[in-house]
Amino acid sequence: MKQEIKNCQNCKQEFTIEPEDFEFYEKMKVPAPTFCPDCRLQRRLSFRNERMLYHRECDLCGKKAITIYHPDGKNVVYCHDCWWSDKWNALSYGREYDFSKSFFEQYHKLSNTIPREGLINANSVNSEYSHLAADNKDCYMLIESSNNERCNHCYWMQISKDCLDCMFVNNSELCYEVFVAWNCYKIFFSKECRDCTDSYFLRDCVGLTNCYGCVGLRNKSYCIFNEQHSKEEYAKFLGEKKEQIKQGNVGILSEEFKNFALKHVNKYSYMQKSVHSTGDYLLNVKNCIYCFHGYDAESCKYGYHVWRDAKEVMDGSTIGRGAELIYESINTGMKNYNVKFGIQDWNGNNDLTYCESCSASSNLFGCICLHAKQYCILNKQYTKEEYEALVPKIIEQMNSLPYIDKKGRVYKFGEFFPIELSQFSYNETPALDHFPMSKEQAQEQGYAWKDQEEKNVTIGGDIIGCSHNGKCTHHCTIGFRFIKAELDFYNKMELPIPKLCPNCRHYERLSQSNPLKLWHRKCMKPECANEFETSYSPDRPEIVYCEQCYNNEVA
Ligand SMILES: [Zn+2]
Ligand SMILES: [Zn+2]
Ligand SMILES: [Zn+2]
Ligand SMILES: [Zn+2]
Repeated sequence: MKQEIKNCQNCKQEFTIEPEDFEFYEKMKVPAPTFCPDCRLQRRLSFRNERMLYHRECDLCGKKAITIYHPDGKNVVYCHDCWWSDKWNALSYGREYDFSKSFFEQYHKLSNTIPREGLINANSVNSEYSHLAADNKDCYMLIESSNNERCNHCYWMQISKDCLDCMFVNNSELCYEVFVAWNCYKIFFSKECRDCTDSYFLRDCVGLTNCYGCVGLRNKSYCIFNEQHSKEEYAKFLGEKKEQIKQGNVGILSEEFKNFALKHVNKYSYMQKSVHSTGDYLLNVKNCIYCFHGYDAESCKYGYHVWRDAKEVMDGSTIGRGAELIYESINTGMKNYNVKFGIQDWNGNNDLTYCESCSASSNLFGCICLHAKQYCILNKQYTKEEYEALVPKIIEQMNSLPYIDKKGRVYKFGEFFPIELSQFSYNETPALDHFPMSKEQAQEQGYAWKDQEEKNVTIGGDIIGCSHNGKCTHHCTIGFRFIKAELDFYNKMELPIPKLCPNCRHYERLSQSNPLKLWHRKCMKPECANEFETSYSPDRPEIVYCEQCYNNEVA
């Protein structure tokens, strides 16, 4: 197969399909996509609500619950215990396939009637306020995370303990306000670190112990703003700084560090121990192209969060823990094999197509909320023979009778779910974070929109007012509360109590991330001819170097 230039049916921009992409499509038995990679990512992200939470009652037991589904919405929502119980049967919502209607129309009907799990949370202990989370213990407001203990207000955490206000942190302990880190212990207000201990305000550092305000250092101790000091000098300096932190002057210290870091050059990408890969925030990946936030992954393309043994994944957003052969899916992992167009299919699935919230199942087509089932279509049970005869006919019918939306976009077999099938409004989803749009623009594109309202879903303690008071983004909860574990953490770590609500803190951290986009650029070191793919757009002020020039200058 030759390289092919296509026109995106959504944004009308050109995009390229490489020969190896065609090989993957062939393997997955799908045609090439008709949306460009950006539009595909945006659409996938619009199917996930990460942090807009609401109070409502469980539609089965009537208990108060916190959920991602607005109480005024059309969904039937069950609390965690009811949803996982045998008090209801997802197969009873099954329907016969109707060849006179489009597949997506029929899927939409099923999607609107089947009971939903209030928060997506599996195998967790004492962590009921966690979402898109699995195997966590004693955690609170932990999102997109697995295998953690006592982590609160964190996002995208793996195998970590006792962390607060962290994002993209793995195998770490006692960290606070950290963005992207691996194997760190007691680091604070830091970014892009590996194997660092007892340090404050670091950026792109490896193997540092007892350091403050350093950029691009490797294997050092007692450094202050990249300069070597004695142990005694460091102790005296840190004592003063810690006093300033306790006084609540973190903003001034952050600014001081930011100005120091600005004088340093930037590496074109945060990528370590990685081969034949492009993207950003990557560690220990192989043949991962155009991937962002990934580690221990192989042969992935257009991935956003591909990690912990993800293999052969194309167009995956949050795919990991032993997921192989996954295409155009979101939150699909934990020993999954051959899943295409999946949404939150967790835990030991094989051969799923167009399925949502299914687990431990195989050979499902267009099914929602099935557990340990096989050979089902639109939640209706078939025999193996019936299933194998029916699926090709449906695929054929999806092409002869495609779903066409109001904007004229045509959804045949091989396309992810149409935009209006999302159960969420655009501004409830992370699509808005990465592809900002106004209400009017979103609605024009076919996305739903929810007007702002006050939200306050935390428990315990007095209500504190967020200093943003809802003026920053629509995500601000305006009022918030502290839980005891948080207050204990601030106390133990000698940190001031934050003035912003957890959502505002989250978005401030997220704003440190470069966009999920790459530009082809040349190294800015004079006389260096190296070129690279970088998430620093050409109009940005930062000096961007290739790996060699960066290492010569900084590390
Ligand atoms: Zn496009
Ligand atoms: Zn219930
Ligand atoms: Zn706020
Ligand atoms: Zn260079």
